Amino acid sequence: MATAKAATAPMKAAQISKPGGDFEIVEREIPKPPPGHVRIKVQACGVCHSDVLTKDGWPGIEYPRVPGHEVAGIIDELGAGVSEWKQGQRVGVGWHGGQDGTCLSCRRGDFRNCRNRKIPGISFDGGYQEYMVAPVEALAAIPESLSAIEAAPLLCAGITTFGALRQSGAVPGDLVAVQGVGGLGHLGIQFASKFGYKVAAIGRGSENAALAKKLGATVYIDSKSTNAAQELQKLGGAQVILATAPSSKAMSELIDGLGPNGKLMVVGASTDPIEVTPVQLIFGNHAIQGWAAGTPTDSEDTLRFAELTGVRPMIETYPLEKAAEGYARMISGKAQFRVVLTM
Ligand SMILES: [Zn+2]
Ligand SMILES: [Zn+2]
Repeated sequence: MATAKAATAPMKAAQISKPGGDFEIVEREIPKPPPGHVRIKVQACGVCHSDVLTKDGWPGIEYPRVPGHEVAGIIDELGAGVSEWKQGQRVGVGWHGGQDGTCLSCRRGDFRNCRNRKIPGISFDGGYQEYMVAPVEALAAIPESLSAIEAAPLLCAGITTFGALRQSGAVPGDLVAVQGVGGLGHLGIQFASKFGYKVAAIGRGSENAALAKKLGATVYIDSKSTNAAQELQKLGGAQVILATAPSSKAMSELIDGLGPNGKLMVVGASTDPIEVTPVQLIFGNHAIQGWAAGTPTDSEDTLRFAELTGVRPMIETYPLEKAAEGYARMISGKAQFRVVLTM
């Protein structure tokens, strides 16, 4: 009698097989974690706008590729040499998919700027699947009180707004404006409020005014019917403007709303230029700074802060099989506010 083959139950994955291709739900063998890696049984994965890089194409991506960098799940198997993480432990994986540990930035301890940093869903298969393999450098522990679907968006949208605000230099009581009440902005408003800032939420139209106040905004500025920069000046000028909506035009229009030594913190990713004159920067010592996600320890800080203060993402869920639908919903800009796939 022939020996029975070792059972490797197939799993479902949502993959893109070429740049610009559609989502394909495929069956794959459950992967084995190599040394220094763990296998995660994925419970939830957020759909982030940056997944467009995998969907539409980005230099260096090898296809087929499974997107997803807002992953929450349970460690299901340890690769050789992994001692600091346990089977059954709840973990998340965000934008930071691991560093080489050897480049100049890493030797300086600046892992977020690693020359060879890996990104889940781009450098290796991400979380749009039932099981994912990740290096230990990418893992963040998830606190007990946060569910997987709540934790997932905090691992990219959350860490980005939390990190940008806590590094912005604003102190409690300062006027901080959050431009955009969307996927990033609805979290930015909550974090800014819990940090003790006076929060001005800026949106186009009046639809989100009540919601912005519920999330913690002190004032709501409708940039469609008023000049938002002038409104901010009436309030004394913003110490920080967290620009979350990916509209360079909207960001440019807000620069004159900065107060003395104020800073525009840019997290909404767009490829159009922001327009600013040297004079706008020189008078008032204004600055413009960009901010990207952060490392897994920043993720853990974000998750712990959310646990402590009650900051939570607003979510629409889709089953993994409907990844294409969930992605289309995210692209439409109509989701309230983060789309999360569940497995
Ligand atoms: Zn993201
Ligand atoms: Zn490095």
